[in-house]
Amino acid sequence: STPVAVACGIQHAARLGVVIKGGSYLEILAKIKCLAMDKTGTLTEGHFRVSEVVPVGETEGLQQILYWLTSVESRSSHPMAAALVTYASLQDVVPSKSVTDFQIIEGEGVSAVVDGHLVEIGNARLASRLGWNNTAITKLKNQTGTVGWLGKDHQLLAVFSLEDHVREEAAEAVSSLKRMKVQIHMLTGDNHETAQSVQRKLGGVTVHAGLLPQDKVRIIQELKENHGMTGMIGDGINDAPALAAADVGFAMGLAGSAVAMETSDVFLMTDDLRKLSMVASLGRRVRTKVI
Ligand code: ADP
Ligand code: MG
Repeated sequence: STPVAVACGIQHAARLGVVIKGGSYLEILAKIKCLAMDKTGTLTEGHFRVSEVVPVGETEGLQQILYWLTSVESRSSHPMAAALVTYASLQDVVPSKSVTDFQIIEGEGVSAVVDGHLVEIGNARLASRLGWNNTAITKLKNQTGTVGWLGKDHQLLAVFSLEDHVREEAAEAVSSLKRMKVQIHMLTGDNHETAQSVQRKLGGVTVHAGLLPQDKVRIIQELKENHGMTGMIGDGINDAPALAAADVGFAMGLAGSAVAMETSDVFLMTDDLRKLSMVASLGRRVRTKVI
């Protein structure tokens, strides 16, 4: 494509609210074969609502459990954390003033020392590593959402579930891309059940669940080798390596992390997934100089 066409293309994208950081990405957009999409906050809104918190065993009551939960989650910036903190505060439970050693357990959850007790919160991977009873989640009425485990001093205390919604425009965005013969892959650290419930709402999306950040990178590399030009769209800090591994990395929305914004090659200024097929087709038009 000519420099003039490229300049026009970038300008046109800007009018759509899409920042393309260089003409070479327009070329890649024109040839894109696969798009890997993060689930939480990308295909979904990333605004969680707590469905249930259920104590396991008789050791501690719900109020006390919410106290451990909110004390740790008030330190976390994961999209699930805000919902859990709000849930506790609505039941008049406020976080402890003594929270130390907050840690992110990669791909599993979070932990901290609260009033001298080790509190660990996370997913099935964390639960199975700590030898917590995996069947405890059958106590939850709704297991299609994102589920979590909470323990104190290595002892399982509660299970909980949260609900997040698939973005309104996600199905339309996916079908437009598929019409352009772009394969769609969902990448998530969340469990299979939740990923599949999102998949059912989208149609024709390949699911990769229970992933660590390095698994996301590996899948991107495999897609590149097996199918050609591969894009990745994500919002989380832990998506940065996958964004960098892709031929073109997309980040979305001003709510996205600064890291993802910097690591991305194409930045969608609004949270509208339909912009993806718009810029892909723009790339094709620039390539054939019909802009
Ligand atoms: P993702 O962005 O796909 O959710 P992460 O690597 O951020 O992946 O987290 C992996 C998993 O760890 C999450 O899906 C969630 O189950 C769990 N997790 C992470 N942070 C928290 C938290 N603050 N509270 C509870 N669970 C968490
Ligand atoms: Mg994430």
